[in-house]
Amino acid sequence: MYIKIKINSFNFHLGGLSMENLSVKELAAKLVGFKTVSTGENHCSVVEMAEWITNYLRPLGFTVKLFDYENHGKKNVNLLASIGGDTMPKLAFAGHMDTVGAGKWSGSDSNPNIPWELQLKDDRYYGLGIADMKCFLAIAIKAAEIISTEKLIHPFTLCFTGDEEVGCLGAKKLAEKIKKISDYVVIGEPTSNTPIYMHKGYMYLGINVGIKNSTGKDNPVHASNPTTSTNVIERVLPIVIGELSNIKSRLETICDERFKPFYPYPSMNIGGEFSIGRNDKEKTKQSKNIIPLGFYMSCEIRPLSGQDTNSLRALVRRVLNEALSNIKCQKPNESIELKVDFVRAPTLPMETPIASPIIKASSEISGKNPEAVVFNTEGGIFNRGGSETVIWGPSDISQAHVNNESVPQKILDDPFYVDQYLKLIRQFCCEGGKYV
Ligand SMILES: [Zn+2]
Repeated sequence: MYIKIKINSFNFHLGGLSMENLSVKELAAKLVGFKTVSTGENHCSVVEMAEWITNYLRPLGFTVKLFDYENHGKKNVNLLASIGGDTMPKLAFAGHMDTVGAGKWSGSDSNPNIPWELQLKDDRYYGLGIADMKCFLAIAIKAAEIISTEKLIHPFTLCFTGDEEVGCLGAKKLAEKIKKISDYVVIGEPTSNTPIYMHKGYMYLGINVGIKNSTGKDNPVHASNPTTSTNVIERVLPIVIGELSNIKSRLETICDERFKPFYPYPSMNIGGEFSIGRNDKEKTKQSKNIIPLGFYMSCEIRPLSGQDTNSLRALVRRVLNEALSNIKCQKPNESIELKVDFVRAPTLPMETPIASPIIKASSEISGKNPEAVVFNTEGGIFNRGGSETVIWGPSDISQAHVNNESVPQKILDDPFYVDQYLKLIRQFCCEGGKYV
């Protein structure tokens, strides 16, 4: 039985400001209630959610700044909320406000499980984005609320972004305005409470190949006469796949043992998506009696720390260009066109020195050794700006991007999680702190 979580907030007034006081569970219910899907054609902004968080934090003494940017003509925002002075923050809790799409959520007509309502069933809280990563945002806001009543020696900040699920766009836009957000950063992505000091990057390449004739007319060519045009599937596709496989083999000669037990090489997935046609419009128009004149395929690469995503794309482009220049087309007036582009901007790999205070402190508090993972986050962007980042969040990565996303009840109900992050703030920002 799914039980909807009610928000029993009470408002009180302080110096003309209206203050709300919510539990972690109620904060999470509030955040899940905002539709912040950033993927797909009907993507939403996080503006409304960021404004609500602003109104929650300002009465607590936080200086909140919203940084506008545009994504496909729609306004979106990143949020920075600081307390404890105007100097460079010592510690930031960071996370993304957006989610992936809802997919298929189960339940029944009489007892529906609704993506945008936090619901409890069998010791688990359900809601879209609750694991990735609104549970952490709720815990971080609660920790911020408590620390606002204590004396800070160094500023503490919350950094909440938009559009992480579409290539960390929000964090990249923020980095254009603010190079460094804080000396140390905790990103609360799902890691089952294990501190992560290193992860791979992410590249999503689109490869388009098309046959062009010199007349510029690319009318469909009937297959009853195979000499009329070059069949791109027959002549070009095997070469493209062969060359990509060669690149994959070359990449697999580079190993970083620290990623074990995960795949310790840069991984490459060839042709995760595939369609016939020189462009999107043609995809649905192809039929069995038409000579295929083009195809599109995607290719995903997860580079290791230290590998440059632009150089890797240039390598794919150069190798394919060279191989395709040797293909003889059916007709002298035909040529092969190749495009290799990022479908969305790449995500940088991240590595923070294992001896960094933020890795040490999160490891001591959680009682877990730091590890490496193969998923990617905004951490590489923050580190490039001069921060040292740990990925350390309460929920489980197996719950990210799934239908009926959920977290164990204790994550929102047990004060353990707020307490551990509070400990960290006190160690870095408060008098007598170990890393002050
Ligand atoms: Zn996430």
